This record gives sequence, structure tokens and C-alpha cells, in this order.
Amino acid sequence: MKLPAFEYACPATLAEAVSLLAARDGDAKAIAGGQSLVPMMAFRVASPSLVVDLRRLPGLKEIKIDGGVRLGALVRWRDILDDARLARAHPLLVAAVNHVAHYQIRNRGTVGGSIAHADPAAEMPGIVVACDAEIAVTGKAGARVIAAKDFFLGALTTALAPDEIITEIRFPAWPTGRRFGFQEFALRRGDFAIAAAAVFYDIDASGRAANAHVGVIGVGDRPMRLPAVEAVLNGARVDGDLIARAAAATSAAVEPQDDIHASAAYRRSLVGTMVERALGAAAA
Ligand SMILES: Cc1cc2nc3c(=O)[nH]c(=O)nc-3n(C[C@H](O)[C@H](O)[C@H](O)COP(=O)(O)OP(=O)(O)OC[C@H]3O[C@@H](n4cnc5c(N)ncnc54)[C@H](O)[C@@H]3O)c2cc1C
Repeated sequence: MKLPAFEYACPATLAEAVSLLAARDGDAKAIAGGQSLVPMMAFRVASPSLVVDLRRLPGLKEIKIDGGVRLGALVRWRDILDDARLARAHPLLVAAVNHVAHYQIRNRGTVGGSIAHADPAAEMPGIVVACDAEIAVTGKAGARVIAAKDFFLGALTTALAPDEIITEIRFPAWPTGRRFGFQEFALRRGDFAIAAAAVFYDIDASGRAANAHVGVIGVGDRPMRLPAVEAVLNGARVDGDLIARAAAATSAAVEPQDDIHASAAYRRSLVGTMVERALGAAAA
């Protein structure tokens, strides 16, 4: 399908981009990689009168590792996979991005675009929630930082105001020795997840799990952490029995819906298996 008619702007500064968006009062859209917005426009799910291209904005393509990891909003999937530093600085992020889309899309799609698009089956929203990341945004009211847990309000719906642009995604430091796992089931490698799990925990001085984080993708209208499953893990030795209990607690904690891809019962069972496998990988 052809796109609806729209005006196009390619500003050179963040301030100009924000004022272009603000002037249309919700009828303008930023474009980064275009891998979600262009299909949405082709299907008339979105028809902004103005598209504001972010590609010339300075400083948004950088990956900074300074204790934590900071990803500029225009960092692409390919940039993450090509940056050898990230394998140590945030291996869970890299593991998840390995499942994002296909070769051509990875060359264009960006982390900021994925977060703003807020597909509940996408990997990056799940990772930012699982890892307590923060989203830095700038709009006409100024700059603010939104905790990932407060950012996603539902499928394709976020806390972003229409004039706000994501500038950076900030991950807390990743300590050496942290155990982690990412598991996803999709119909084909690179498709959106039917269900996925991102887990990590640290090991305390007595050899028990601490600071457990269990995030799941594709089983609700937004990515989520599962405190009931984290409680099973925290303070316990991670062995086969504990992993089986955590998997059962996962299936009990989610409320997926039937859709064209899978029944709710299948997803409920599948996400338990994803957590089981992710914890198995972490423990190994
Ligand atoms: C065939 C196909 C398969 C795919 N498979 C997967 C997959 O398996 N997993 C996955 O996660 N994704 C997948 N994607 C989506 C892909 O990763 C997109 O690139 C990504 O979701 C959006 O990034 P983008 O840079 O292309 O954003 P765009 O398409 O440019 O924009 C998407 C939305 O975000 C807004 N936006 C963009 N940047 C910003 C910003 N900095 N601040 C505020 N708003 C912004 C836009 O206004 C728009 O609403 C797939 C896409 C295709 C076409």
C-alpha cells in the first residue's frame, strides 16, 4: 500500500524537532528507522500530517559505557551487535537484541523507535523493564527521566507526550558474575516473540540468589516484571527444583489473552517454559 500524503522535516537540532512536533499538537510524528512507523502509515494506523526525521540530531547515535550503559535513541540494533564492549557491559541486552527482527531491519531500526512504538511482543521494551532502565526524554516542557516501569501504559501506548522525543536509554551498571538468561519463542527467528523471558540474579556470600529480576514479554499488553517469581528466587539456592517452582509461579502470575497467534493457555504454559530455560541458562 502507498503511504498517505504527509509533510516532511529534517531538523538539525533537538529544540527545532521538539517545536515542530509541538506545533502540530499530536498530528506530527518523529521518524527514526521507519521500520514500524512506515508500515503503520501504509496500513493507515497512523497518518500524521508531518513526519519529523530525527536522523540529523546530534549526539543520539552514541553508546556510552560509564559504569552503566547509555544508548542514544538513534542507536540501531546493528550498532549494539557490533559493539564488542557490550558483551561484558550488558550481556543480557545483547542476548535479547540477537532476537530482534531480520538483517535489513536491524540496519535501520533504533532503540528509541522500539521503546516509543511499545509493541508488547518486542524485545527492547521487555529488556528496559526487566533491567530497571531509565528513559530520558525532551519536550517543550523541558527534559525529564521516566523509569521504564512507568513508561509503558498499554499496547502501543506510552507516557510520552506528543511533543516529547526520547534522547537516551540508561541501564544501571552490570556487576561481574551476575547470572542471566534470555529465552524467546517466535514462529521464525527474528519475528516478534510469542513469549519471551529475561532473567538475572546475583549470588550472595552464602551462594544464594539475590536481587532477582524476572521480566516477561508477549503475555500482556505491556512488558512486565513478576515479583511473585522473583520472591521464589531471592534467598534460595538455584537448583532444578527451585527453577521448576519459578516456572510454575510464572505461569500462575500472568494473564495472557487469546489472539490470532496463540491461545491464552498456550502462552501461559510457554512463558513458564521460557523462564525455566532462561533460569537454567543463568544457573549454568
Ligand atoms: C518485518 C519486521 C519484523 C520486525 N521484527 C521485530 C522483532 O522481532 N522485534 C522487535 O523488537 N522489533 C521488530 N520490528 C520492529 C523494528 O525493530 C523497529 O525498527 C522498531 O520497533 C522501531 O524502530 P524504528 O527506529 O524503526 O522506529 P520508527 O518506525 O521510525 O518509529 C516508531 C515509532 O516511534 C516513534 N519514535 C521513533 N523514534 C523516537 C524517539 N527518539 N522519540 C520519540 N518517538 C520516537 C515514532 O514517532 C513512531 O511512533 C520488526 C519490523 C519489521 C518491519
